[in-house]
Amino acid sequence: MTPFIAKIVWALGCVGWFVIRYPHARRARKTPVVHRGNRTRELVLMAISASGLGLVPAIYVVTGAPRFASYAFQPWLAWLGVAVLGAALYLFHRTHHDLGRAWSVTLEIRDRHALVTHGIYHYVRHPMYSAFWLWAASQALLLPNWIAGCAGLVGFGTLFFCRVGQEERMMLETFGEDYRAYMAKTHRIVPGVY
Ligand code: SAH
Repeated sequence: MTPFIAKIVWALGCVGWFVIRYPHARRARKTPVVHRGNRTRELVLMAISASGLGLVPAIYVVTGAPRFASYAFQPWLAWLGVAVLGAALYLFHRTHHDLGRAWSVTLEIRDRHALVTHGIYHYVRHPMYSAFWLWAASQALLLPNWIAGCAGLVGFGTLFFCRVGQEERMMLETFGEDYRAYMAKTHRIVPGVY
């Protein structure tokens, strides 16, 4: 494992994420929406998250900037990053599969939206966000730079903490007691913990 290979792995993670998501994004464009959250707020949060998970690390991977924040590369950390990235992509795949046509980029309720509580959703309410946390953690493990490495945790963390409560309110308004019962049985992102 070298710093160069770790950078390639990070880039392959982005490609993998795109490939998993693409067919769902295509279908989502065609599925009618009956309720939309605040679009401007959602777009700002997504821009923050995309900067942290994409833009800032991409600049580092291509140019090495910001150099003052770099530290010595540890191969074992990068290997751990590979494992965590693999877990993140697997979880992404499972969540997209189980959520099916209920999936959306921003907070939305679809026409004939069904509450999903099976598959990976049996274990936690927000497994796609668990996958994003793992992805952000893998970035920190793969890239030996405090700013580029931690940008994903900060960027996605901002989106997560500003969005998850709103998402649950929207789900409660839409599915009422069914979602309340689901909430009573599950944690948000780590089974049995949070
Ligand atoms: N927060 C979830 C889903 C992210 S995609 C996760 O992390 O796995 C966001 C969309 O998924 C929201 O617009 C919401 O309408 C939908 N959604 C979230 N949880 C859902 C569930 N349990 N069943 C059906 N749709 C859900």
